[in-house]
Amino acid sequence: MMKLVVLGSGTAVPHPQRASTAHWLETERGSLLLDASAPAVHRMAQENLDWVNLDAIWISHFHLDHVGGLAPLLFGTKHAPQTRSRRKPLNIFGGRGLKQLISAFDEANDYNLLKQPFPVEIQEVAPRAEFEILSGLKAETLSTPHTSESLALRLTEEGGTSLVYTSDTGYTDALAKFAAGVDLLMMECSFPRNKPVETHLELEHAMRVARDAEPRRVLLGHLYPEWDGIDLAREAKKLWPGETIAATDGLRLSVG
Ligand SMILES: [Zn+2]
Ligand SMILES: [Zn+2]
Repeated sequence: MMKLVVLGSGTAVPHPQRASTAHWLETERGSLLLDASAPAVHRMAQENLDWVNLDAIWISHFHLDHVGGLAPLLFGTKHAPQTRSRRKPLNIFGGRGLKQLISAFDEANDYNLLKQPFPVEIQEVAPRAEFEILSGLKAETLSTPHTSESLALRLTEEGGTSLVYTSDTGYTDALAKFAAGVDLLMMECSFPRNKPVETHLELEHAMRVARDAEPRRVLLGHLYPEWDGIDLAREAKKLWPGETIAATDGLRLSVG
């Protein structure tokens, strides 16, 4: 059983209702932040989430709408009274280059982001890696056609509950195989149609992945303003008969 809270259902484009990408995931083994956009830092507090005890952060790739909150979050935990007595480590996972990226943020000024009341551990993971993202929570990765380091993530709890988070990606057949049979397929769907780049999905491509992967449910996020005024779930139903949910900021879902 996992519980998901959508912190940001949007993109890098400023939008009145959609913050850029971040999700809070509560699992049997602890809590995870799936991407850390700039608004994530305060959205966690707005949603009354236990950010003080956050266990791990997953960074899908290094575009700023996914990673722009990482340095501010570490700056916050470094100075917040609430984290002063915290001792358990915070683990940050992402693709190759994550350590260099965090060092670059850190060295931009005298921030000392990694000097915290608690240990911060940064772990770079490869495509097709299998690892424990939280003690006892299995994670697998897939390289996606978006950036050189971008990774999709599959999580499987001991009881079998599973979730795939594609984050930003272009279309590839590999996505459906990677996401086969999951309880929740969290997929990007940047554009309704006529996508301007190959490195994102439009609805028809996202629904092709859904048809082939046969997940229990689909959650579509990373929605550009082109989606404003369109009934996403109704459009999705025309292409795949299963349950498709349009992400909105503050949406809460139980998985499994
Ligand atoms: Zn993005
Ligand atoms: Zn991106």
